[in-house]
Amino acid sequence: MTTPTPEFQALRERALVCTDCRLSETRTNVVFGVGDFGADLMFVGEAPGRNEDLQGEPFVGAAGQLLDELLAGIGIQRPQVYIANVLKCRPPNNRDPRPDEIDACKGYLREQIRMISPRVVVTLGNFATKLLLRTETGITRLRGQRFNWWLGATLVPTFHPAAALRGRPQVRQQMQEDFALVRQILDEPPDDRPADPVQPGAGSEEAVFEDAQMELFK
Ligand code: URA
Repeated sequence: MTTPTPEFQALRERALVCTDCRLSETRTNVVFGVGDFGADLMFVGEAPGRNEDLQGEPFVGAAGQLLDELLAGIGIQRPQVYIANVLKCRPPNNRDPRPDEIDACKGYLREQIRMISPRVVVTLGNFATKLLLRTETGITRLRGQRFNWWLGATLVPTFHPAAALRGRPQVRQQMQEDFALVRQILDEPPDDRPADPVQPGAGSEEAVFEDAQMELFK
């Protein structure tokens, strides 16, 4: 377990008292994120649900249990990774995040990713994938692919675990395949990226994407 930097601690302290959007009025706890500051693997979910709001920790409910099982399937325990969400506060009745809430909150996620600097970022579901890949393409089309991403990280989109709990058995199977891809990437020597990676957006250069990514997170 790597000790977080004072800069990261300060970010967390700031988030814990944040009142930048309406969700601060209805939350019980801010769910900043949990895990190893030195993690090679980071997960980004959507927003805290009821259990997460009560406990102040991401993915502690049924979806979290499935996440743990999928991780165990590739030989990884939860404390080895870092887990965060697009939104740090629970939307009332688990409604979808609103665009202004995402805008108000995304700076925290950007700084978490920048400071942790994981080798692999896994986006869980549509909200995280659309934000981090700057796309309107749905998760069903994007899942299971690898994208060369910001700060040299590889991004792998997969379904949200809640979709596997609700949906057809096939969704869980596909998530297992996506986790196997994550294992494969983690097992590659660092910086040994494929010569012909999938680029986010036809014809886009990776450098252009990285600039755009910075813009997105401002
Ligand atoms: N769903 C999410 O997207 N995040 C959580 O932390 C819990 C459920």
